[in-house]
Amino acid sequence: MTLVVTGGRILSASSPRGEPRDIVIEGDTIVDLVAPGSVRDQNTERLDASRRLIIPGLINAHTHSHGGLSKGIGDRWNLEILQTANPWMGGQRGAEDKYLSALITAIDQVEKGTTACYDLFFEFPVPTVDGMAAVASAYREVGLRAVIAPMVSDLTFYQSLPGFIDAVTRVDGGKAGAMRMGGPDDIVAALKRLAAQWSYPGDQLRLGIAPTIPHHCTREFMIGCRDVAREHGLVMQTHVGEAKYQAASSFSIFGMSMTRTMDSVGIVGPWFSAAHAVWLDPDDMRLLAERGAQVAHNPGANLRLGSGIGAARDYLRHGVTLGIGTDGCHCSDNQNMFEAMRAASFVSRVRGLPPQEWLSTHEAFQLATEGSARVLGFQDQIGRIAKGYKADLVLLDLDHVNFMPLNNAVNQIVHAEDGCGVDKVLIGGRLVVSGGSVIGIDKRALAAKADAAVERLHGLNAQARRFAKMIEPIVVNFCHGLTDSAALAGLHRLLPRH
Ligand SMILES: [Zn+2]
Repeated sequence: MTLVVTGGRILSASSPRGEPRDIVIEGDTIVDLVAPGSVRDQNTERLDASRRLIIPGLINAHTHSHGGLSKGIGDRWNLEILQTANPWMGGQRGAEDKYLSALITAIDQVEKGTTACYDLFFEFPVPTVDGMAAVASAYREVGLRAVIAPMVSDLTFYQSLPGFIDAVTRVDGGKAGAMRMGGPDDIVAALKRLAAQWSYPGDQLRLGIAPTIPHHCTREFMIGCRDVAREHGLVMQTHVGEAKYQAASSFSIFGMSMTRTMDSVGIVGPWFSAAHAVWLDPDDMRLLAERGAQVAHNPGANLRLGSGIGAARDYLRHGVTLGIGTDGCHCSDNQNMFEAMRAASFVSRVRGLPPQEWLSTHEAFQLATEGSARVLGFQDQIGRIAKGYKADLVLLDLDHVNFMPLNNAVNQIVHAEDGCGVDKVLIGGRLVVSGGSVIGIDKRALAAKADAAVERLHGLNAQARRFAKMIEPIVVNFCHGLTDSAALAGLHRLLPRH
């Protein structure tokens, strides 16, 4: 079946107000871009896009679907408070909770113009076929494309830093120190099972592997993950240098930076992306560039957790491909890629660089589309409106106040649009959002189910929550001390450069 999106203006680098073009779609693919009204065949289906600016769907390079049920839970949390809270925030969940959390995350994305995402999904103690199926069914229901990468580690947060358990034991009597992840062999066996059984269409849902944070993984475990990824041709993503204390402690744990550590076990390559990459130095950047690896830049989450500001311009100068992500709802609260692009643009301006080195709106948009597509391993399929690309399109309402008046489309998309101007979204030529609302899902019923789920989980996790609250001050002090001791040890290159 042929579908023609008629009467719209396509975002174009050469025309500040968009270029009038009709888009011809066969199946899920764009087959032609033609002059308005030039397709006269009466047998084609038509979608009216008059007074609409058409952009390629935005692509979220880093999120966590398990965060969907935790939206708004925290306020003044840094990364270590978040990690302390993780066991109670995500504990005791059944398949239905995992599905609800992913469904909310998916709706949050499509309604705000995102058509594909990289989801680092966590299950404790090991990833399961049922849990992954729950997440995949939520994505299929909404129509969102995704890489779903089980987020795995064989060490707990408390085991991940030398001296940490001793410090916490003074207040908790050894409880945190006794926590364990699933065994490394069990986790790797689970990954193998998932890879062997994966049966979803590869252009819609792909499996990835996400060793969560380098120092939460033993070298042997990282190698086990790498081997499964290699055997099945899977992309990998890891949180690298998100917080300063992590980057600092990498030298005492591994004797080298996190990036070098990942590289020393053969993980860094074109299939690999580093999420956040706030606390990396020029040597790490060169390494990522040489290996053809990418970075998922998450400025919103970095601001929310007070982690720092990723050096987007430095990465680009080194030739590293950058995508943009929102991170999960438990650490950046919404899944709005328009806000993420704006944050990327704005934070690039406060690193002491002259204006010509700031990210332009065109660059921010490109990172959130073509750059993120590369991170997902979907380059050449999504991220552009061009012949042969999937028909993943967002129609923005030019009568919305965000575009009133239309002076410069890309400036207004990045600096004015907030998701409210999204009218329609197509993924693979299928209409998934109309009038700004996801099609086929009763959101009132979903809200009631989500409220009931969090109330039930709140009760089940109450004790774990009290425990986290009790040890939180020790955790914060300990991690802060790691940063100070790194500075004293002369690791000044890890200090902020702004
Ligand atoms: Zn993350």
